[in-house]
Amino acid sequence: MRADRTRERTVVLNQLLLGVVALLSATIAFAMEAVAVPELVLGGLLLVAVVTGIALAVPWNRIHAPWSALLPICDILAIALLRESNPSAGFSLLWIFPAMWIAGSFGLLGLVVVNVLTNGVYWLTVALDPAQSLTPVIILIPMTIVAVSTTAYLASKRAAAQRALLDAQARLLARAVERSRRQEDLVTEVLDAVDFGVIRLGIRGEESVRNEAHARMQRMLAPGGAEQAAFAEDGLTELGVEQTPLARARRGETFDGDLVWYGKPGKGRRALSVTSRALESAGGERVGGILVSRDVTDEVMALRAREDLVASVSHELRTPLTAILGYLELVLDGDDLSAASRRGLEVAERNAARLLDIIADLLTVSADHHGGVRLSIDQRVARVDEIVHSSVEALLPRAAERQITLDDAGIEQVTAFIDPLRIRQVVDNIIGNAVKYNVDQGRVEVGVTADMDHAWIVVRDDGTGISAEEIPRLFERFFRADAVRKTTTHGSGLGLSISREIARAHGGEITVQSELGSGSTFLIRLPLREKGRRS
Ligand code: ADP
Repeated sequence: MRADRTRERTVVLNQLLLGVVALLSATIAFAMEAVAVPELVLGGLLLVAVVTGIALAVPWNRIHAPWSALLPICDILAIALLRESNPSAGFSLLWIFPAMWIAGSFGLLGLVVVNVLTNGVYWLTVALDPAQSLTPVIILIPMTIVAVSTTAYLASKRAAAQRALLDAQARLLARAVERSRRQEDLVTEVLDAVDFGVIRLGIRGEESVRNEAHARMQRMLAPGGAEQAAFAEDGLTELGVEQTPLARARRGETFDGDLVWYGKPGKGRRALSVTSRALESAGGERVGGILVSRDVTDEVMALRAREDLVASVSHELRTPLTAILGYLELVLDGDDLSAASRRGLEVAERNAARLLDIIADLLTVSADHHGGVRLSIDQRVARVDEIVHSSVEALLPRAAERQITLDDAGIEQVTAFIDPLRIRQVVDNIIGNAVKYNVDQGRVEVGVTADMDHAWIVVRDDGTGISAEEIPRLFERFFRADAVRKTTTHGSGLGLSISREIARAHGGEITVQSELGSGSTFLIRLPLREKGRRS
């Protein structure tokens, strides 16, 4: 840190100024022959010169401050000598300089002392001088010195207050800077501690922040600095440079959990789930973006393994089950069965048929792997109301078992461009759920209607309902709500997932509104006409 030389500067400047003015006034006095006793002037100037020499030579900053007051005091005496050479030459005005110096540097005490001193010396010289005539000028000089020194004192006080304010502000600023630096460190530490990669993109797409996990992922994905090719969620479609998550985020795109594979198909490739958010300033201007990526290879692999297992087990089960059903049918076709055996065999056949349905569902959802049954849609113009009516009819016995009312009064006649078998599957599943997840003596309302472009099937129940947290996951494969898992109600968690796939394959959609404890409403939207065809 640089040494504070303020006091040194004040001393030297004040003394030099006084020295120069004293020398000039003495020279002028000599020139105008206004000096009665030249020895006194020379003595005074000599004293000022000595004081100036001392002012320049002494390191005032290292010396206790009051010592520097000796200099202006000596100056006051030197000026007294100058004044004595000719009292009317006006040398006494020079006292203004040491008076300002002391009053400005040594506070109230300085102000009092310097005025007592200058006045003392002044009135002493006045008293000792018999030739001094009593004119108004006599009191004007000490009054001027008092006024000027008071002004200097007040100005120095104000300057000190301003300096204190500035110091306080500087301290506050330093503290704020320190706090924001600590906060930045904290954010960096937190970002480095998490196991997902984070990149902050600037307005021009430059990476302004990247955390430790991102750097680790980068090293893993680009061994030896060689970037690996990126592939879409299917793992096969290669993404062009403009389609990579980073390029999309740089363009300001927002996306959620997009799955991207890095590395060619085969061993060692990694799957990342990438999310991008555009960042906006308070004024709504785009100021960059955030890209978050998580390594989900293990999760994706585990999911695939589960689907593979499901697919292969389903395959293996289908053949013996078909045989069982075939034989049951054969036996049931015979006439030599007692009524009790027939009832037993019919139950067995119904359950085996149900098992086959479940297996068909399992194979549908694992169609992408292991050559399962692909979801094929065969659309034509068909009556939606008839499909819904027959589904309701088929479910009546099951509803009756638990005294659930199935109200189909809201079904209007509607024809749409659909695959009747697939839509029956969807409707069976959704009305079946409305009965299955209802309470005893509950109520299910089913309706069909249409607007200009779509057929709408509404299924409303007043059953258990679904919690807000579970609704977004409802259409996931194998998803079953917590409330349902705890009961003995059986289900595979596949029905809704397949139903939505079927609706979407038609160009339609299934949506749900539900509240835990008060029931659910499922809405199925289907196209009225073939795409591109007008009515
Ligand atoms: P499954 O009924 O075979 O379990 P679904 O895919 O048809 O599979 O349904 C998934 C889950 O959604 C169900 O397990 C249940 O928790 C919940 N669910 C579906 N429909 C309803 C409904 N109408 N009321 C309450 N919960 C429902």
